[in-house]
Amino acid sequence: MLVSAKEMLQKAVAGHYAVGQFNINNLEWTKTILLTAEECKSPVILGVSSGAGKYMSGFKTVAAMVGAMVDDLGITVPVATHLDHGSYDACLQCIDAGFTSIMFDGSKYPIEENVAKTKELIAICKEKGMSLEAEVGAIGGEEDGVIGQGECADPKECKMIADLGVDMLAAGIGNIHGKYPANWAGLSFETLDAIQQLTGDMPLVLHGGTGIPDDMIRKAIDLGVAKINVNTECQIAFSAAVRKYFEAGKDLEGKGFDPRKVLKPGCEAIAETVKTKMELFGSVGKA
Ligand SMILES: [Zn+2]
Repeated sequence: MLVSAKEMLQKAVAGHYAVGQFNINNLEWTKTILLTAEECKSPVILGVSSGAGKYMSGFKTVAAMVGAMVDDLGITVPVATHLDHGSYDACLQCIDAGFTSIMFDGSKYPIEENVAKTKELIAICKEKGMSLEAEVGAIGGEEDGVIGQGECADPKECKMIADLGVDMLAAGIGNIHGKYPANWAGLSFETLDAIQQLTGDMPLVLHGGTGIPDDMIRKAIDLGVAKINVNTECQIAFSAAVRKYFEAGKDLEGKGFDPRKVLKPGCEAIAETVKTKMELFGSVGKA
């Protein structure tokens, strides 16, 4: 069932669990994540970056594929199609394409312009029954080991953006995209607590979920995180499984060259990763 992310995240806040956003790259990823969510009876958010959207030939193709797949596979759990880190233009394109949710990443704009554009997009989303995620500050993305601690958002700025009427709020609490460096200082629970104190029931979003220790994830959920983005972890699991297939020479056995056979171990690895995350986030059985 295709829906916005609003209701599923409000339920998650109330029930003290989090809904996973799993980014998709192609048909196989989408199908695998949808089937796993259905098996786990878990709500799910399919994240689509602008790059992945372009790779799949455009946001319209993505929206049409997800819609048809939900139908063809008989998916009954709540599914949101969500633009990840969208520019203003990408947000408009996804609204037009039939996505059910968008993230506006206005971190490159001065705060006044960020607020003005956010307000404009909120008005359109409300009218269309879509949900909107805003980001306060910027979430780091370096993998070079130089960054020991990701940026922390200003709780007052979080409150200001939350009050604009967004449905979920991404705030930096020391988290970063991609693999975490060995000297990472961990999540800043003081920052998260201060943000939650000011924003109340607003579902908070944790980006860069790959490599954050499980106990930190659980504590973050206790403190109001209701959406956790997972991307890199599925990519690593997929690639490792496909590599094993080739290393074992399975593509040379019988009709092992069939792309459906080649990609199968990768899809199984994604399913395993997604299931483990849903269990950790507490969303299993909540749909
Ligand atoms: Zn992100």
